[in-house]
Amino acid sequence: MTAAIPVFDGHNDVLLRLYKSKSADPVADFLAGEQAGHLDLQKAKAGSFAGGFFALYSPAASKPAAFFEQMTGGRYALPLPDPLTLEEARTSVVAELAILLQIVRASHGAVAICTTTAEIRSAMARGALAVVIHLEGAEAIDEKLQFLEILYAAGLRSIGPVWSRTTIFGHGVPFHFPAGPDLGEGLTAAGERLVAACNDMKIMIDLSHITEKGFWDVARLSKAPLVATHSNAHALCPSPRNLTDRQLAAIRDTEGMVGLNFATCFLRPDGAMRPDTDIDLMVQQIDYLLEKVGEGHVGLGSDFDGATVPEKIGSVAGLQVLFSALRDKGYSESLLTKLGATNWLDLLQRTIC
Ligand SMILES: [Zn+2]
Repeated sequence: MTAAIPVFDGHNDVLLRLYKSKSADPVADFLAGEQAGHLDLQKAKAGSFAGGFFALYSPAASKPAAFFEQMTGGRYALPLPDPLTLEEARTSVVAELAILLQIVRASHGAVAICTTTAEIRSAMARGALAVVIHLEGAEAIDEKLQFLEILYAAGLRSIGPVWSRTTIFGHGVPFHFPAGPDLGEGLTAAGERLVAACNDMKIMIDLSHITEKGFWDVARLSKAPLVATHSNAHALCPSPRNLTDRQLAAIRDTEGMVGLNFATCFLRPDGAMRPDTDIDLMVQQIDYLLEKVGEGHVGLGSDFDGATVPEKIGSVAGLQVLFSALRDKGYSESLLTKLGATNWLDLLQRTIC
């Protein structure tokens, strides 16, 4: 019997799921565990999910077209969602942050917001769920970056300047398939100032949704390692959300990090969102990413509660299934430990400190 591998994960959307929940008490649901969803405290314990980046994300105010249903595989080109106003974006970000703060308070130490790597290590050592706050798409932040200060004070340590939607800071890739990531403009002048501010404040910059032009803009400007928290290799799945070999080489050269996205549309060669996706595709992605960026720079970026994941994993409770599959392929326990958590911790040591 091998020991479970602890996981510190690059991306989840549980706060969005709880924000949209019809339940009278989503905070209690998260703590006590529930049938619905990929991630809650009880499933986390079952799967040795020790912590990760928890996204604050602003959904469209009006009901968007059923995105996943259109990603049936083969070929698609969904329109770029409309930009949000500052007020639309802030409403959901503030509500999701409030849910997280309520969870932390009601958990009596079982869930902790962490702003340094030392805090993450200490939370993990005492068995508390370690939460690093991430903003996915910076729509809630104003051009003067005043709201950035407020989110920083609340614990924010990671930002994706864009989700797949245009912001005042830059442009994200649309949901097209198959396509390369060079699908639009890069950073705006405000985006360049945001990158500088993130470097100054030791906030990690996440490149997972940005266009290829935006990626190279950040590569040129940022003093920090290049990070894509939840993206895969484009060579194996030609989605614009995945990284070309040149982008992977830049991540390797800056001692950055890439987190394996479990969303089947970024794993499958046909780009479809379907649960009956074999986890061998996850293994193949990890093999490829390790070859391109090296053992110290690959981790997980599950996208739990934000996407359809292979049904053999199912939820965070099934995370160890992936490690078993990697063990069967001959991966050593020390490499599994790096992929599970320590590569992310080492990267965070170099970025947020
Ligand atoms: Zn995302």
